[in-house]
Amino acid sequence: MLQKRYYQFYANVNYRSCPECLALHGKISRKENSFPPCPKGCQYTIVPFTHKELPFHKEQQREMRIAARNELKRRELFEQGISLLGKDDEQAISLLADSTQYDLYIPEVERLVEKKGNLLLNSPSVRERLLKIFVQAYSDKFGWRRYERLPELMRIAREEEGIRRLRELLR
Ligand SMILES: [Zn+2]
Repeated sequence: MLQKRYYQFYANVNYRSCPECLALHGKISRKENSFPPCPKGCQYTIVPFTHKELPFHKEQQREMRIAARNELKRRELFEQGISLLGKDDEQAISLLADSTQYDLYIPEVERLVEKKGNLLLNSPSVRERLLKIFVQAYSDKFGWRRYERLPELMRIAREEEGIRRLRELLR
């Protein structure tokens, strides 16, 4: 008997994933070739599965849609935070702190410092508060479920390396 086949799109969700991939993340299709190749060249995986596994993949899909939405929210809050720095520092810091509830990526902090370097140079107190928020968020990040599969020593090394970089950027 011919088994029904399904295919699920797994994007690599992070600060670089393009909107097209985030929109497809978790999507299930009956046809393997129904997912167009990513126009930006992102990495993604198409996972085949059988009808019996459908309930599991639908549950995955639910969580994956949330993850994709959260990444978009993170970006929006982070962008608003960057643009408000120097205009309304309290609001900017609050938005940047909110964005770290979803995730924090070191290259994003590098981008922030690149854009607002002069301003940060003249605002030691803003720098200090951002450093505190980012260090805490980065440290928390490595306690999250998705990083648990990393071997313990690697996890600690990555966490320490990230925190060292944050201090370098915002000291
Ligand atoms: Zn993409």
